Amino acid sequence: MGLLDGKNALIFGVANDHSIAWGIAKAFHEQGARVGFSSIESLIERRVRPLAEQIGSTFVVPCDVRDDGQVRAVFDRWGADVGRLDILVHALAFADRADLDGLFVDTSRGGFAIALDVSVYSLVALAREARPHLAPGSSILTLSYYGAEKVVAHYNVMGVAKAALEASVRYLAADLGPEGVRVNAISAGPIRTVAAHGIAGFKQMYGTFRDVAPLRSNITIEAVGGTAVWLASDLSGQVTGETVHVDGGFSIMGVPNPDAAG
Ligand code: NAD
Repeated sequence: MGLLDGKNALIFGVANDHSIAWGIAKAFHEQGARVGFSSIESLIERRVRPLAEQIGSTFVVPCDVRDDGQVRAVFDRWGADVGRLDILVHALAFADRADLDGLFVDTSRGGFAIALDVSVYSLVALAREARPHLAPGSSILTLSYYGAEKVVAHYNVMGVAKAALEASVRYLAADLGPEGVRVNAISAGPIRTVAAHGIAGFKQMYGTFRDVAPLRSNITIEAVGGTAVWLASDLSGQVTGETVHVDGGFSIMGVPNPDAAG
């Protein structure tokens, strides 16, 4: 018996088998959910479909979240092929590489707009198009990072985007709560993924994380998947509008323990 038996989940953001979205997909599958995927077109045949096949999934539909027409088309296909949607996962983000280095004050107008559009507005667009398919008891999840709360060197415009994302989670939770739909974010510690490697200084951020985090280990996509199962399942039935940290306690620390390193 799985915690997600009988639930249908649609996951946006698998790029490869290191993606947080893939960790969530595996965990959902292990707990009995039926899982479908959407990713940008160039990744579909080479990357996403082979992974989907590993867990017996045939729903693999392309979408660039900047395009309202493509977003609508995914949910139209979902409605026709699958029907009800119980779990929606938004695990994607983008900023120009130039804006993930140097100073935040130098962020261009265009760079700011694209980061907020792809990384934040997309959650609103997905939630709106998903709404007709979501049954009471369903759950929407997104992925955030500590840079939303505190300044993290080089995270820059993405920190501002994550702050807006966490605020959007609260507004969406208030809108959709009366329909029985919950909306939450997982704020994950650093994980080596394609997106993470676009951030200048990520290697150092990743390397020192273990020394500061009380649980003294790095975060895995499996750890995020486990919390995602809880947030998607009926066990978290009264939890909405929250940002849950999966960071080994990193975010509770003020002054790191000077004896911890090494
Ligand atoms: P990833 O590179 O595996 O996934 C990012 C995904 O975003 C990719 O699949 C990419 O195709 C997709 N994407 C980018 N632009 C898109 C667009 N226009 N339309 C559709 N999809 C688009 O990296 P990840 O680290 O698994 O990222 C998933 C989420 O987790 C992101 O929101 C990221 O900010 C967040 N996050 C990552 C970390 C980390 O350290 N890796 C920590 C906390 C939060």
